[in-house]
Amino acid sequence: MSSCNYSPEDFRRSFPLFQQPENRALVYLDNAATTQRPAAVIDAIADFYRHSNANTHRSSHRLARRATELVEETRAQAAAFLNARTSREVIFCRGATEALNLLANSLCAGLCEGDEIVLSTIEHHANLVPWQMMAQRYGLKLRYVPHIAGVPEFDRLEEVLNERTRIVSLTGGSNALGLRPDLAAIARQLRGRALHWIVDGSQLAAHEVIDVQATGCDFFVCSAHKFYGPTGVGLLYGREALLAAMPPWQGGGEMIAEVGLYHSEYAGLPHRFEAGTSSLGSLAGLNAAFAFLRQQDRSAMAAHEQSLVQRLHRELAQMPHLRLLSQPQHNLGIVAFAPVDGAPADLAHWLDERDIAVRVGNHCAQPLSRAAGVGATLRASVAGYTTWQDCEAFLHAVGEFQRVSA
Ligand code: PLP
Repeated sequence: MSSCNYSPEDFRRSFPLFQQPENRALVYLDNAATTQRPAAVIDAIADFYRHSNANTHRSSHRLARRATELVEETRAQAAAFLNARTSREVIFCRGATEALNLLANSLCAGLCEGDEIVLSTIEHHANLVPWQMMAQRYGLKLRYVPHIAGVPEFDRLEEVLNERTRIVSLTGGSNALGLRPDLAAIARQLRGRALHWIVDGSQLAAHEVIDVQATGCDFFVCSAHKFYGPTGVGLLYGREALLAAMPPWQGGGEMIAEVGLYHSEYAGLPHRFEAGTSSLGSLAGLNAAFAFLRQQDRSAMAAHEQSLVQRLHRELAQMPHLRLLSQPQHNLGIVAFAPVDGAPADLAHWLDERDIAVRVGNHCAQPLSRAAGVGATLRASVAGYTTWQDCEAFLHAVGEFQRVSA
């Protein structure tokens, strides 16, 4: 059931995992961790290795040329996916984690002791730990958006900005709560300040059409495996002038123009940030993922996901022995909850025994769990192929667990 003509069942048919006999009854609600891949992506990866495997750039034979074309074609698709101005603004990396480490290492190398970086309490560890490492290395100060019990009040961001703020690195959507900050309101508070604004779009990219120019951010990162693409590949967008002024993070082949014994000249954008051999099969899969997404009605898919998440919140809120941690408003597709009594792991195990996949733990957001005063929580997250029947099976099983443990 859906609020529009969108059919999650049709969408689901593109995903071979759901067609396997052992997965026919699977209720997969762990999409915030990783989505499934459509056949088009799986086939593109296999086809690359079967028909045209070669390394890029280094040699001039037919297969090497084809591999090089594939990478640059995929980069052009990525630029279109993000609405970047040029493909020179797109760097391929292993995922959002590597992209954030690249930014932290490269940007912080130019900072002075006492300069400040602003983060929030709902960031994924990937958007916390790299900055902590740089803060230690360079004597930088980390500041946090004001929050109530771990939930940031992004409209008060300005309170932690000052003349020493150099970097503001904030989520575009929380993996723990689904909370999606108002990026336009953040942009307004940052306007006219001499700092770099990074958006961690890891969760956002699956649920809405990304437009880095309209957003106005300086950098944007995401991982392909969260939007139906392969693991091992992600995107770093950066404004061309900023990327061009940044030192490379990793050194090696592919990122150089000229190498001497004591000094090397680096390649231009984007290759100066792509040292070593890329995950070429994954890039072939990513190319197919972009084509696949272009064929979808993304706003209808988002409306469908929204209808599921609203209803899930409504139904779970009726269950007396559950504590709901997420809110249905400004939520990109995640329900976070925990039993009032009893261990979340027991409920997760109960669901797993019924072939219902949810995530249990702190969802790589330990500071949030601590500030909110909760331990582990359960997280159910939806995608374009999630049906209302999936949600009903999940709600039924949670209700049953409550009855037997009451
Ligand atoms: N940021 C957010 C908000 C995430 O949800 C994740 C993954 O869960 C990451 C960063 C890290 O992504 P990856 O592990 O693909 O590098």
